[in-house]
Amino acid sequence: MIAVNEPLLDGNEKKYLIECIESGWISSEGPFVKEFEEKFAARVGRKHGVAVCNGTAALDAAVEALGIGVGDEVIMPSFTIISCVQQIVRSGAIPVLVDSHPVTWNMDITQIEAKITRRTKAIMVVHIYGLPVDIDPVLEVARQYGIKVIEDAAQMIGQTYNGKPCGTFGDISTFSFYPNKHITTGEGGMIVTNDDHLAGICRDLRNLCFQPTKRFVHEGLGWNLRLTNLQAALGLAQLERLDEFVARKRRMGERYNELLAGVEGLQLPQDRVGYAENIYWVYGLVLADNVGFSAEEAMRRLAAEGVGCRPFFCPMHQQPVLKRRGLFAGESYPVAERMYRQGFYVPSGLAISEVQIADVSNAVKRILQ
Ligand SMILES: *Cc1c(COP(=O)(O)O)cnc(C)c1O
Repeated sequence: MIAVNEPLLDGNEKKYLIECIESGWISSEGPFVKEFEEKFAARVGRKHGVAVCNGTAALDAAVEALGIGVGDEVIMPSFTIISCVQQIVRSGAIPVLVDSHPVTWNMDITQIEAKITRRTKAIMVVHIYGLPVDIDPVLEVARQYGIKVIEDAAQMIGQTYNGKPCGTFGDISTFSFYPNKHITTGEGGMIVTNDDHLAGICRDLRNLCFQPTKRFVHEGLGWNLRLTNLQAALGLAQLERLDEFVARKRRMGERYNELLAGVEGLQLPQDRVGYAENIYWVYGLVLADNVGFSAEEAMRRLAAEGVGCRPFFCPMHQQPVLKRRGLFAGESYPVAERMYRQGFYVPSGLAISEVQIADVSNAVKRILQ
């Protein structure tokens, strides 16, 4: 079976982990956490980095830090991961959705302005699958209406938009270091911002709102979202190789593009747009309408060929848990719906070999014949 994702851990990971164990620093108090925060923030070009235990937690803290709560509205894409919506809904705020662009698979930015109301507090921008959102026009709208921007850059580590690093565009931007991201800490995440106040709130939220002077007296409710020194050790070793990893992912995507070019019934990822070149977080495929079967059936057939695949995201307006709460009644986002029905991704981890890419491509061609 060719795994859908396999990370590369053959740099300084082992060396730094051994340092943790030999020094006894394994908790979040260890020195690698701060070093990872500083180096990651510097790499992204931001003043503050706040390391947390995963990318979902980073989004939760970002939403809470911006004071989003009861009755506030947050504009976001329907086509994304559930992590984006959870804290919005839990806080009593209302997610307001936009559809996706059928070629870039990112949120359709032309739909944003019409969704703005007096209650709109933030726009959550989520860069999808390797190409960034065309974010300048979004920032312009946000500025015009006095709305905050949360940027979910989990799939965009090492990517740029018009030459500027992704993760520099939100009032708060977030990352994930799950093993299928461009760098991994096993589980982990990061919040970055230039805002001293927001960074302080995120640090408090991460650490149960413990106070420096009166430790067990709490003025706020936080969470325990701390990243461990062991995880930060992995992160430092991975960060050293980020440029190499991004180049590797691009080579993978280009190879798939060559091997699958012209195959009837398949939409391939867009390799570049004016503001960025794809970094192929995953290599996604969307079946044409005339193929005669869905992504689910394609994944079944590929599994039988020894190829591990995953479905595209299920849109937020189709999530049972959100519909049961009375959200999105009667709403339809046809591009997102079609991407979910007909989209899936093939093995695209950092450790994938040329031979595996060729094997996967041949299997894809076979199941379409
Ligand atoms: C992976 C991912 C997350 C969640 O990160 P975890 O570390 O798995 O919690 C959030 N948003 C996007 C866009 C992601 O790809």
